[in-house]
Amino acid sequence: MTFQNTKAGAQQLDSEDVLARYRDEFIFPQHQGRNVIYFTGNSLGLQPKRTKKYVDEVMDDWANLAVEGHFYAEKPWWDYHERFALPLGKIVGAKPAEVSVMNTLTVNLHLMMVSFYRPTKKRYKIICEEKAFPSDQYMFQSQVQFHGYKSEEAIVEIKRREGEHNLRLEDILAKISEAGEALALVLIGGVNYYTGQVFDIKTITAAGHQVGATVGWDLAHAAGNIQLELHDWKVDFACWCSYKYMNSGPGNASGFFVHQKHHNNKKLHRFAGWWGHNKERRFKMEPDFDPVQGADGWQISNLPILSLAPYLASVSLFDEIGMEALVKKRDKITSYLEFILHEIDKEVDSSFEIITPANPLERASQLSVFLHGEGRSLFDYLMQNGVVTDWREPNVIRLAPVPLYCSFEDMYHFGQILKAGILAKNNVSL
Ligand SMILES: *Cc1c(COP(=O)(O)O)cnc(C)c1O
Repeated sequence: MTFQNTKAGAQQLDSEDVLARYRDEFIFPQHQGRNVIYFTGNSLGLQPKRTKKYVDEVMDDWANLAVEGHFYAEKPWWDYHERFALPLGKIVGAKPAEVSVMNTLTVNLHLMMVSFYRPTKKRYKIICEEKAFPSDQYMFQSQVQFHGYKSEEAIVEIKRREGEHNLRLEDILAKISEAGEALALVLIGGVNYYTGQVFDIKTITAAGHQVGATVGWDLAHAAGNIQLELHDWKVDFACWCSYKYMNSGPGNASGFFVHQKHHNNKKLHRFAGWWGHNKERRFKMEPDFDPVQGADGWQISNLPILSLAPYLASVSLFDEIGMEALVKKRDKITSYLEFILHEIDKEVDSSFEIITPANPLERASQLSVFLHGEGRSLFDYLMQNGVVTDWREPNVIRLAPVPLYCSFEDMYHFGQILKAGILAKNNVSL
């Protein structure tokens, strides 16, 4: 495909975009009377316009029905979460019984580890990626310590090669086979939050199983961003937050997946609560725990309906569009952004470098740009000029052109602002 770094060229791409009309389904913060150019949907997705209706419905039912809302609300609260099973299953490639919602991401990963990280003297190691998201690192450390191990003996990090920004699949597979019988769990982020690298979940999962380990995935940056086939890939468990690509709002409920093969395993430990108990008998208040056969059996408490309502609104959008169309636009708009960056690089002495893999199969909605030199002032310039991006130490801005609501014209305007920012900066330093 040949792209053009012109306003007309960008507008042409927008006119061919079958998802273009969904931009109007979202509320954009304003900068000088215009929508900002929003690149941080990988951190907090924009608010869909339909979300308010979903939240208001719960508020009204609560006002009008109070406790009776559990059973008589427009969408009764006692089984509100069941509305997620089908559409969420489609988003992550799972059977409806394999997915559910509860808590938040790190909490759910801890709870999954209660079931799926059961170290023994012989098999106790966890493999994760180097520089995992901090919350995941703290989780690994506290989990192995809880089981009586030292971090340095139980946590194996897959490292980048000298001078490289991304992990190599062959290095991941080598680490797994090296750990062999000592390996209890592989738990990696499906899309790296810093570089945007997409991992080969299918191959890595099979390699973990080959040595007898359990394999889980943190899909914070993957859910709603990449095409997943969690059931077919035989992933043991996975968790994701809903406020990034899934647009559910700040700190809202997390989704999780437990493969069907584990649903009837009575030997798995879990931390139980009444919401995971046999649905028909939940309100009989019996003493013995009888888990629901499915991911719902890992639920503990009754659910925060006001947190689920915005998630359900957003899931309905994904359900209308489907991951296939989303992924198609994602690849095109990400390539266009990459093209714009390279064009600006040619026009001005920019000294930046894209550290996200250039191979479209190894990346999704995000391009991470390493700014050599005075990067922070350029970041500030972008923010002051209506480009919302984020800064990650030591010198990286992450750009996520989210296909649901970003336009090709946004990419063109961003290029012009970036160019002006670089020129302004260069003049200052002369
Ligand atoms: C965003 C993110 C988190 C955040 O965890 P919360 O428990 O939702 O605060 C954790 N892990 C990864 C990899 C993330 O990208």
